[in-house]
Amino acid sequence: ERADVIVVGGGPAGMTAASRVKRFRRNWRVVVFERSKYVSYAPCGLPYYLGGYADSIEELVHYPLRVFTEERGLEVYTKTEVVEAGEGYVRARFKDGSEKTFEWDKLLIATGARPRVPRVPGTDLEGVLTLRTLESGEEAEKVLNGAERIAIVGAGYIGLEVADNLARRGKKVLVVEMLPHVMPTLDPDMASVVEEELVRNGVELHLNEALREIAGSGKVEKIVTDKSEYRADAVFLATGVAPETTLADMLGVKKGATGAVSVDASMRTSHENVFAAGDVAEALNLVTGKPDWFPLAPVANKMGYVAGASLAGFEESFPGAVGTAITKVFGLEVARTGLTEERARKEGFDPVSVTITANSRASYYPGASQITVKLIADRSTGQLLGAQIIGGEGVLARINTLATLVAMRATVRDAFFSDLAYAPPFAPVWDPVIVAARVLL
Ligand code: FAD
Repeated sequence: ERADVIVVGGGPAGMTAASRVKRFRRNWRVVVFERSKYVSYAPCGLPYYLGGYADSIEELVHYPLRVFTEERGLEVYTKTEVVEAGEGYVRARFKDGSEKTFEWDKLLIATGARPRVPRVPGTDLEGVLTLRTLESGEEAEKVLNGAERIAIVGAGYIGLEVADNLARRGKKVLVVEMLPHVMPTLDPDMASVVEEELVRNGVELHLNEALREIAGSGKVEKIVTDKSEYRADAVFLATGVAPETTLADMLGVKKGATGAVSVDASMRTSHENVFAAGDVAEALNLVTGKPDWFPLAPVANKMGYVAGASLAGFEESFPGAVGTAITKVFGLEVARTGLTEERARKEGFDPVSVTITANSRASYYPGASQITVKLIADRSTGQLLGAQIIGGEGVLARINTLATLVAMRATVRDAFFSDLAYAPPFAPVWDPVIVAARVLL
């Protein structure tokens, strides 16, 4: 069988790209293969599903399958894995176990990322969980129903979102992190604010401790670290993600220093007719000017958008990203963009930084909370390199402003004079972002 375009991976990148190809090329045969049961789903909702915010896992699906097949004219195979690929073909294994070879003119690798599983004994025990597909969320939910004490290994944003949601559900939560601080995408001074919030909310936090083993007879009973051991009924491995490059490797396309697939701005790989988009691919870091890896949903969607046009034969390009992300840890909104101070130094900048704490609204207006803004800039040029914000409210708008400034290579002076909105219910007249910039000027 032959298809004009084959898309492997039905996540945000793959489905955006496939839909866009069809929009440009109504008569092309566009086939999507997805290993899991669902396409067009949001893994980002999984921690909140576990927190009880969605009654059914289906609520995390953006569009039902029928929208893609009936309305958009795509041919979509779920529970179908691409098990082999080479020049001009892929081999798909369907849910019934049968296999078929499909030939393609153009191929999109949209295989995303997968959880990194630490190489320690016991990761195959019952009750050891990772989160990625909706099925993994359903499995976690089943295990959690009978579990009291949950150990979360890894204190990145996924681990902490799970901690927040499970604690709110009344579970006893323990977080073990190998590094001296939670959230490595923040500088240590900002991370320590998050650590206090975790402890204040009853999370048992163990920093500087590495997982050595998960133990139990058949089922998880405890985790063993290099310092101690802790009883646990279930274990979440939230020790980071890696690009899912199995298919890319079969095709022999070039990978970058980050381990993700190298692409140009049109999402083309080192192979002329093979494209890659989403978490499996690199993107240009607009601050460093180098390829980088941003496994985040908004970036994946936009890369898919660009890949769709490119696959259809139109000119489109993805400018790059700065790594903007936001999360909620109990009562705190925690966000970041651009480079941390530490990374800025490694990249050869001479960073200066400032951290200020201010009110989120006019001081007399009820409901205000504290907001802490850290700005990082290059000493000689004044270029804004990154920002981190933690507060009780109003973090999203401010990090988005700074993300845009960082991406446009603005200076501290640009940030200071940026014309931000003001009214007492929303901000002080000197917005915390402006205050931070003023100190750094
Ligand atoms: P994926 O969503 O990983 O989709 C790739 C698909 O390819 C998968 O469905 C996989 O089954 C399929 N596949 C892989 N190999 C094959 C094969 N050989 N054959 C067939 N199918 C295959 N990002 C944010 O920006 N904000 C958040 O709040 C956020 N929260 C998250 C929370 C969790 C728990 C997780 C896991 C991720 C979160 N992310 C978040 C990241 C975000 O989900 C990803 O950036 C996004 O899903 C990437 O989309 P993608 O299409 O590139 O890859």
